[in-house]
Formats: sequence, C-alpha cells, structure tokens
Amino acid sequence: MFISLQQLELRPVQFSVDVPENEIDYGGEVKQSSALRAEGSARLLNHSLGEVRVQGVLRVTMQATCDRCLEAASFPVESQFDLIYMPAGDAPSGGEKEIHHAGIEVGYYEGNGLALNDILREVVLLALPMQLVCSETCKGICPACGQNRNQQDCGCRPEAVESRWSGLKNFRAELGPRN
Ligand SMILES: [Zn+2]
Ligand SMILES: [Zn+2]
Repeated sequence: MFISLQQLELRPVQFSVDVPENEIDYGGEVKQSSALRAEGSARLLNHSLGEVRVQGVLRVTMQATCDRCLEAASFPVESQFDLIYMPAGDAPSGGEKEIHHAGIEVGYYEGNGLALNDILREVVLLALPMQLVCSETCKGICPACGQNRNQQDCGCRPEAVESRWSGLKNFRAELGPRN
C-alpha cells in the first residue's frame, strides 16, 4: 500500500492490512513467521512542510537465529507506533535520527509519499529486543565442543573456557559477524 501526499492533502488515510510472509525484506536474519496485521492512520501535519504523522498498532511473529544457541527462535511482536515522517530534503546531514518534539521518532521519505511496508518494517525492527535469544535461560553452545547445551549436557567443564570465550565473542561482535 502506498500513501500518497495527494491523498493525504484531501483527508487522513486509514489503513488495515495483512502483510503476508516474504513480502517485506527485513535484511539480515530476521523474517516474518506469520502474517503481519496492522491498522492505523496517516495524516498530514502541515501542508507546506509535508510532515506526515503515522499512528497505529501492529502484530506479527518474527523468526530469527538465537544469538546464543544458533537455533531458530520465535519473537512475537505487538507494537503501538507513533512516527513522524518528513521529506528527505529536510534530513540533517550525517543521516542520524532526530527526535521530534514530544519524543516522537522522526523518519524521512522521498518522492510523493510513503510505502506502508517501509514503515511497518521499521516499526518491527525497533520493537525487536537488542539481544535475540530463544529464551532467557538459553544455555547456548558449549565453547569447548560446540554442543547445543539446551539439548544435551556435553559434560565439559565450562568455567575457565567460558570467560575466555565471552571476551573473544565481544571482540568478534565489534568486528561484525564472521566465522
Ligand atoms: Zn538459544
Ligand atoms: Zn562441551
């Protein structure tokens, strides 16, 4: 669904959509494992400036690889959102995000409107936890033998190896994903 400025100049646009899996590309290893249900509205805040406020709710189940054990993990997302989009010409150089008055997050759009899927993708990515783990109690992979310790206790003695491994892991995280 595309929300054009011409539509918005006439009246607020209501949306109520079911976005099937595989329609939105989230990049990386995150993907939908259910349809995404969203409803809400978009309206023009100020004709001359082209500021668009988008408010709504969405619900979806996402799937990603657990950061600790590398198995597929499910992440139910239920999010209320309230975002302001401004024409890309107004974007500050450097591309960093700005927080609008009232603490509302600001995004930018190009051309004569907004693709609803782009907005929904952003809301989902913001709603996901920083650390994607299958469970708070996930035991992860044994640093010594590589066994998934949720499935089976491999019997390795973890202490000494563990602290060395977590140091190495942090170091690798800074360098980016790599094996
Ligand atoms: Zn896990
Ligand atoms: Zn082991």
